Amino acid sequence: MNRFAAARRVVVKVGTTTLTHGSGLLNYRRLERLVKTLADLKNSGKEIVLVSSGAIGVGMGELGLSARPQDMPTKQACAAVGQCELMYTYDKLFGEYNHSVAQILLTGEDIVPGKRRDNAANTFRRLLEFGVVPVVNENDTVSTEEIEIGDNDTLSAVVATLIGADALVLLSDIDGLYTANPKEDPTASLIPVVEDVDAVMSLGGGSSSIFGKGGMATKLHAAQTACSAGVDMAIINGSDPTLLYRLFDGENIGTYFVGRKQDV
Ligand code: GLU
Repeated sequence: MNRFAAARRVVVKVGTTTLTHGSGLLNYRRLERLVKTLADLKNSGKEIVLVSSGAIGVGMGELGLSARPQDMPTKQACAAVGQCELMYTYDKLFGEYNHSVAQILLTGEDIVPGKRRDNAANTFRRLLEFGVVPVVNENDTVSTEEIEIGDNDTLSAVVATLIGADALVLLSDIDGLYTANPKEDPTASLIPVVEDVDAVMSLGGGSSSIFGKGGMATKLHAAQTACSAGVDMAIINGSDPTLLYRLFDGENIGTYFVGRKQDV
């Protein structure tokens, strides 16, 4: 049994490979299921913040690029095109279930302690009071290396701590954390519960997708950030977004990283 059933404020992060087909264009069937599930969880009383990747991948698809751009201006151009398409789609789909969305784009400068971080936190708070679903991404258009957050696994953990979330769920293209890379090692087995993230950090591998960033290493770093702030985290497979129902019913699916609750 996990603590997700009791979680009220929830951050869900979805990656590019979950949102798009191999072509880089949006996977509407999956998106529709994801939005319907999130809308339903929201109706059940949870506050939902969605951290969505996909801007660069979707922009690549729209601009007909087959390789992830390496230079900053091309990445930023793709992100600018793709972010529009993403928000248009989220607005339309959440709107079908009578929920409003808001776009929040952040850079590294906005999440270090200070006025900009406070402003962002205040905006989140007010949006959640209004019952809106904030949809968050890195502000790729203005992010340069110096102020880059880097990947949305990290961003989602930072957002979870910023808004005092109870739980963070990373929807991935893999079922959870394995004892070894299951694509290379047939004896690899899924680890259902991690009590001490530091002890499993060595299990993070590299990134394997041409459209997105991340990989297990960034997910484990996200788990470190989330768990040390007392936020429970799970990695589950995003190919079936309705798994979120089972997770929030308290079932142990994927890998559950137990947040360290501070002693009171
Ligand atoms: N901000 C990037 C995008 O929307 C994604 C970064 C990531 O996948 O972690 O394409």
